[in-house]
Amino acid sequence: MRACLLDHPSPVEMRPLRYAEDAAVPEPADDELLVRVSACGICRTDLHVVEGELPARLTPVILGHQIVGRVEATGARPAGFDLGERVGVAWLHRTCGLCRFCRACRENLCESPHFTGWTVNGGFSEYATVPAAFAYPLPEGFSDLQAAPLLCAGIIGYRALRLTGLGEGGNGWAGVRLGIYGFGAAGHVCIQLARARGAEVYVSTRERQRHQALASELGATWTGGAGEEPPAKLDAAIIFAPAGELVPAALGALDRGGTLVLGGIHMSDVPSFPYRLIYGERSVRSVANNTREDGREFLAEAARVPVRTYVETFPLERANDALVALKHDAIRGAGVLVVDPVTAPTH
Ligand SMILES: [Zn+2]
Ligand SMILES: [Zn+2]
Repeated sequence: MRACLLDHPSPVEMRPLRYAEDAAVPEPADDELLVRVSACGICRTDLHVVEGELPARLTPVILGHQIVGRVEATGARPAGFDLGERVGVAWLHRTCGLCRFCRACRENLCESPHFTGWTVNGGFSEYATVPAAFAYPLPEGFSDLQAAPLLCAGIIGYRALRLTGLGEGGNGWAGVRLGIYGFGAAGHVCIQLARARGAEVYVSTRERQRHQALASELGATWTGGAGEEPPAKLDAAIIFAPAGELVPAALGALDRGGTLVLGGIHMSDVPSFPYRLIYGERSVRSVANNTREDGREFLAEAARVPVRTYVETFPLERANDALVALKHDAIRGAGVLVVDPVTAPTH
């Protein structure tokens, strides 16, 4: 099969993904589906794997954890999906089901998880496998290309919104002020959920032309440069950019009692900051992965709103170019690799 493989982590400008046409088609285990991949979204996490900020766990590895495809075959056990059915595959590939986090419905914190496109092969390839219990049926109304960014950017944005605590305690979302720092794939989905719920959204991003224009188009109350102070105190904020220096800036923009959520799997070091920035019962927390429940709830809400994803497409063999563009803020909305141009036509 055609696939892009990473042999050694290195700066993405060195084009470390190797395109091959003779990679082996994976065999589904008893509880797995074999998925014929149509499209696969790219994510900042893919960059962290390529560049070694997440240590190599499988070599070589096929990246990609926002897979849209169709069930080609199933393992020995009945899987709950029909052959040909459209499915999505996300970052959380498999959990142990036994550890104290799994047993407490907090499987995103599992002590021995597998992750798609990092510890097991992902979707920068024609075929991928997924445990049937971790595959998502996808709502109609999204083309394959539009559905791909929902599977990580979308779900993580959804979970980040939940961790802000906004809307809890019967206060509702109407008029709450949410800050979003970094406006790539996750930000552009997150703002649509927040706006639909009734929040005012303040967007801060270093890239002005594409990102701030898209934020305005999607209903941002205000847009500004990286770390620029919004004109109103925020009830909560989410940092999607992997830049630790934004933490003090975002804390400084929070109102008393506000929560700052860090949405990335990797971030540069957070500089020290004066205690007054976090005093006043402000808090900082990270998002780690997501539960399958998050994924199902998000997909239902995305279909209801409905969320519209803005995608820039690249053919599979140009995965290196796609990741370079992502690294340099050159993608408007989300980047998606077209693996099968028949099921994922770009026009
Ligand atoms: Zn577990
Ligand atoms: Zn991701």
